[in-house]
Amino acid sequence: MMSTTSALVEALSNIVGSRFVSDDINVRLAYSRDASPEPPRICDVVVRPGSTEEVAEIVKVANRFKTPIIIRGGGANLVGLPPGSGGITIDMTRMCNIVEIDETSMTVTAQTGINWSMLTYELKKKGYRTPFYGPFSGGAATLGGGISNASAGLGSAKYGTVADILVGLEVVLPTGDVIRTGSGANPFARKFARWGFGPDMTGLFVGDQGIFGVKTEATLKIMPWPDCWTFGSYTFQDLEKCCRAIYEVQLKHIPVNIILLEPDFNRLFGKAGFRGLADVPFSVHLHIEGYSKDEVDKLKAEADEIMKKHGGNEVPPDFPSWNFTRPWEWPPRTGPLGQAWITACYKVPILDYPAHRDMWYRVLDKYKDVMKEKKIDFYVASLVVENALDPMNVLYWFDEDEEAREWVRKIWRDLIINEIRNGAIHYWLGKVIGERVAQTYTGTYFDFLRTIKRALDPNGIINPGLLLL
Ligand SMILES: Cc1cc2nc3c(=O)[nH]c(=O)nc-3n(C[C@H](O)[C@H](O)[C@H](O)COP(=O)(O)OP(=O)(O)OC[C@H]3O[C@@H](n4cnc5c(N)ncnc54)[C@H](O)[C@@H]3O)c2cc1C
Repeated sequence: MMSTTSALVEALSNIVGSRFVSDDINVRLAYSRDASPEPPRICDVVVRPGSTEEVAEIVKVANRFKTPIIIRGGGANLVGLPPGSGGITIDMTRMCNIVEIDETSMTVTAQTGINWSMLTYELKKKGYRTPFYGPFSGGAATLGGGISNASAGLGSAKYGTVADILVGLEVVLPTGDVIRTGSGANPFARKFARWGFGPDMTGLFVGDQGIFGVKTEATLKIMPWPDCWTFGSYTFQDLEKCCRAIYEVQLKHIPVNIILLEPDFNRLFGKAGFRGLADVPFSVHLHIEGYSKDEVDKLKAEADEIMKKHGGNEVPPDFPSWNFTRPWEWPPRTGPLGQAWITACYKVPILDYPAHRDMWYRVLDKYKDVMKEKKIDFYVASLVVENALDPMNVLYWFDEDEEAREWVRKIWRDLIINEIRNGAIHYWLGKVIGERVAQTYTGTYFDFLRTIKRALDPNGIINPGLLLL
């Protein structure tokens, strides 16, 4: 008699062709981790669908076999795969085509396995860009991963997160049924409007960590490619004043990107030859874009005035002109000395940031001896996401030292709990952050989510265990 795995491989091969199905252990190991230090989760079979219809059939097979599905985009998450083992990993990256650029609606519809750099490259050829243009991992990370994580990143100072540019989705529900959200739900309408035609069902799938279904297509807003830009860099002695300056610049919606570097990163970039950063506590870096030199010069002059009013000292813009002209090169996957790293990005209101950040150092103080002994470093760079600062508070360690890795996993978890209790809103959650966020949900809110999950996914097969559902 055929084993269950062989029967599964056969059923999946009948859908996508045997070339796109594998139960080889090397392949399964390659899909067993994301970019976090969490232990591997090994599935039974990997499948690479090429169309929405194939995804729907795969989901039906999973229901028949009562086996879990782990959805995978670029695998660039930093939080661990869903708990447990076995099941089917659906790799979405074959579904990487642009379906339509609708110039009338100013939207692009693409399959969700496309990564952000490919999408941006293809749109640029036609003179367009999405306003938010992807997480910093966008060289690998996909539209589907970004939407499931409610990603922030490039373009977030001015345009918000992926949620703010999302017009509608096509989703394969956990039963295998396919729906469209937004105006795409009206078979007679263009995909151009998110709201109206009933409740905002697109929002249900934003930041859901994939638990409510497999996103197969997404429609996003586009804008003309901004062909003029300029940069500004300012150093600050005082964090309160620095945040006040960022806040005021944000009230006027001036830059498209803003990064705040804290002392260790300033020292590092200073050493690397970025002028004016070596010995300063805080530095703020602006990326301003527009459609004419006059426009960007005027915006830069406004930003200059605000930065200087709050004590900012202008230095050459080496960091932003390097970082924002190579959007998917920083941060690299290794630290300055080749270390591994982990972080937990999240949002806090800009003006709350100085008090909030003190909490990290209270937490880290408990571990100062072991951090010294195990050469564990802590660096911070924060991104601006509209009204919030989004710290990338990075722990670096040498991964060949397994004890160091285990200490980092412990410190990281301790930081996350304290961040949540200090009002942080994390958005890529996965296993590690998701567990801690879900433990904070009130009973009523958790029951509400569980009711939705059970209604959509009666067999509990899609990304089971995430958000404790
Ligand atoms: C160097 C680096 C920089 C980063 N910078 C940022 C950043 O600036 N902003 C940010 O938000 N994050 C950032 N991240 C975290 C992460 O890479 C992103 O959140 C990214 O959006 C994940 O996309 P992915 O395609 O790799 O998703 P994956 O890691 O493959 O999956 C992420 C989650 O989405 C689900 N999922 C994926 N595709 C689908 C789909 N089609 N349908 C339903 N569910 C799906 C998965 O099951 C999983 O739960 C960074 C990570 C690294 C390593």
